Amino acid sequence: MADIAAPAYRTIPIIPELKPGAMEGKGPFVAPDKINEALGFPGHLVDDWHDKAIAKMGDLLSRYRSLKVYMDACVHCGACSDKCHYFIGTQDPKNMPVARQDLMRSVYRRYFTLPGKLFPKLVGARDLTREVLDEWFNYYHQCSECRRCSVFCPYGIDTAEVTMAAREILDSVGYGQKYANEIIGKVHKIGNNLGLPGPALNDTLEGLEEDVKEATGVDVRFPIDVKGAEVLLITPSADFFAEPHIDSLIGYAKVFHATGTSWTLSSMSSEAGNFGMFIGNYEQLRAIAMRIRQAALELGVKRIVVGECGHAWRVAYSFWNTLTGVGDGADPNDRFAQMLQKQLDHRYKQPAHICEFTWDMIQDERLVFDKSHNDKYVITFHDSCNVARGSNMGGYPGGQFDIPRNIIRAVANNFVEMDSSTTYERTFCCGGGGGLLTDDLMDVRVKGALPRMEVLQQVKDGHGVNFMACICAICKAQFTKVLPIYGFDRKVIGGVHQLVSNAIQLGVK
Ligand code: SF4
Ligand code: SF4
Repeated sequence: MADIAAPAYRTIPIIPELKPGAMEGKGPFVAPDKINEALGFPGHLVDDWHDKAIAKMGDLLSRYRSLKVYMDACVHCGACSDKCHYFIGTQDPKNMPVARQDLMRSVYRRYFTLPGKLFPKLVGARDLTREVLDEWFNYYHQCSECRRCSVFCPYGIDTAEVTMAAREILDSVGYGQKYANEIIGKVHKIGNNLGLPGPALNDTLEGLEEDVKEATGVDVRFPIDVKGAEVLLITPSADFFAEPHIDSLIGYAKVFHATGTSWTLSSMSSEAGNFGMFIGNYEQLRAIAMRIRQAALELGVKRIVVGECGHAWRVAYSFWNTLTGVGDGADPNDRFAQMLQKQLDHRYKQPAHICEFTWDMIQDERLVFDKSHNDKYVITFHDSCNVARGSNMGGYPGGQFDIPRNIIRAVANNFVEMDSSTTYERTFCCGGGGGLLTDDLMDVRVKGALPRMEVLQQVKDGHGVNFMACICAICKAQFTKVLPIYGFDRKVIGGVHQLVSNAIQLGVK
């Protein structure tokens, strides 16, 4: 990492000067045979990869109508071209969203349209050569599937879906990404992304109970595998040991304690994250989500609450209902989904985000805070992309933006917004989302963080901001690494429930 430097801030954010090929060959490590095979993918690039890849593309085009629309609808207006943080940071024109789509669109034209079959050069159609496949691997792993570009596209073309399709095709021919596939394998084998086994998890939770008792004098519990608990908390495994994640876990536990809510974690399903979405693979997405359903059924819980994790909340909010039966729209022919529907308490939102839970409790006046405990901070809020553009909270438009901010204002006195062109639905990705949070992509990650770092610097200089709250485990991990490279203290990043934890008064109500 010694040779990775932060790009210079832009004084006026203009369209960057182009640096063709700047990020060629900067993709991630390729997954080795063992990791791929554990997920049922070919171990390495198969001999007939060309035909298999085209067949898979045809399969996806027939299954996902949206993908075909995205392949056909782009008019190359350029509205999206300067909206991607990876293009802004790397200046590589192939990181423009439209160019990223065109890597696949050109192949689509060649094999799936008549003009492309007859006059390929005239319509920008390309054969799927090994060189093109390598380009896919490289540049579809420099997209965090954040969907910012789609906000600006007049046709609503979603580059994230194109990226997911490309990654699915790559996996189907044995050309997967090491980091994402390895993580998925750990979830299947052990139950969480980190490969943290049950006994280690128990030890960690016991240690946390001791720490909180020492700090507050109160017996706040971190229960695990408690049958008959009301709430099952599904949270990212980083919450169990990483900094600053663990401070938010302490915050959730204090909220449950202060409101007298019985809750539990699950050792079998100790992960909210679902990298199946990142690789665009429905079977993996479903298999990971199924662990949560199994835990909920075995423990007999009435409510499922999701911790601070951006993409996990998107999967929970958008897909758990049809995948697992949590939420509306459970498959009437799926016996276990129907069992779960009967078991859950429908007076409550299913699933609920921890911020919705806490905000409800604040509104019901069941929590007491001393805001002065956060007076050392001038706080801003980073909207995480999967929450901002792929989900909702509170059941009303924009609730996913209001509720975390409402909580911050309830627990702290000093709150400042960042530049409005970089927040709410127009927020910039942290630079590490979508399966890119790996050291082999550090250069991409540092450069992709540039737009967020620029506006953080503005509020630091203008208002003395020294804490950027967020509700995403990946954002927390990514910023912890890149903040120092941009000259900030790594402790500038933290969770919303870290602030809740600081201010909450236990034993008052
Ligand atoms: S990283 Fe985000 S903005 Fe960039 S191409 Fe992918 S989805 Fe679009
Ligand atoms: S904004 Fe939409 S239509 Fe315009 S170039 Fe980008 S993807 Fe194509």
